[in-house]
Amino acid sequence: MPILDQWDLRLDADAVLRGQGADPSILRSRRPRLFDIAGQALDEGLALIKPRVLYERFTVESLCHNRVRLVGGNDLKGEAPVQHLGAAQEVLIAVCTIGGELEARAQKVMETEIVYGLALYGVGSAAVEALANAVCKDFEDEAAARGWQTTIPLSPGMIGWSVEDGQPQIFSLLDGSQVDVRLTSSSIMLPLKSLSLVMGLGPDLNRLGTTCDFCAMHAVCKYKNNHAKPE
Ligand code: SF4
Repeated sequence: MPILDQWDLRLDADAVLRGQGADPSILRSRRPRLFDIAGQALDEGLALIKPRVLYERFTVESLCHNRVRLVGGNDLKGEAPVQHLGAAQEVLIAVCTIGGELEARAQKVMETEIVYGLALYGVGSAAVEALANAVCKDFEDEAAARGWQTTIPLSPGMIGWSVEDGQPQIFSLLDGSQVDVRLTSSSIMLPLKSLSLVMGLGPDLNRLGTTCDFCAMHAVCKYKNNHAKPE
C-alpha cells in the first residue's frame, strides 16, 4: 500500500489555538499570552511530528441498499457510504497520522505545565487536520486531472457512519501497522492524532453538501462552513 510521507504542513498560532477548541479572534484581545505559548508549542511540536498517509484505491463494483461493494469482495456499509459513494467509480481510503512522539511529549508536559501541554495537543490536532486537508486536496486534484469529481471525505463519527461501524471497516481494508496506527477494541485509533477517511471519485459525481453538513459537531461548531481553514 502506498505511503505518502513528504508533507509541508503550514501551521500558525491561530491553528494551534483552534486545535485546542479556542477562538483566536477572542483570545487575541483577552489572553495574548496564550498566543506566545501557542507559538512556542508550535516551534517544539513541528519537530516532533512525522506526517504520513497510508492509502489504497478500490474500484466500486455495485451498490446495494445498505452497502457499497468493492471489487475484491469487500464492503463499505452504512447510511453515509451508501448516500455519498454509491455513484462513485473508485474510492480512496486513507489513514493519516502524525505519529506518537508529540502526543507522548504533551502527555508528559501535562504533569507539570497544563497550559503548555494543552498547546502541544493543539499542535497535534491542527497538524493531523492539516494533513487530512492536504491529502484530500491531492485526491481532488487527481480526480480533476482525469475530468472526474470527488465526494466529500467521509470519516467515521460523521452523521450516518458511527465510529464503531466505520473504523473497523477501514482497518479491514488498510493495514494501519504500516504507519504504526492501530485500532483499540473500542475503535479508537492510536496514536490519537490520527484520522481516517474515504473519498469517492468518478465522472458526473454530484457532491452532496459539505463536510460540515454531515459533521456530528455541526450544531455547536463555531467554524462550520469554513472547514478547510479552522482545522
Ligand atoms: S462542523 Fe465543519 S468545521 Fe466544525 S468540526 Fe465539523 S467539519 Fe470541522
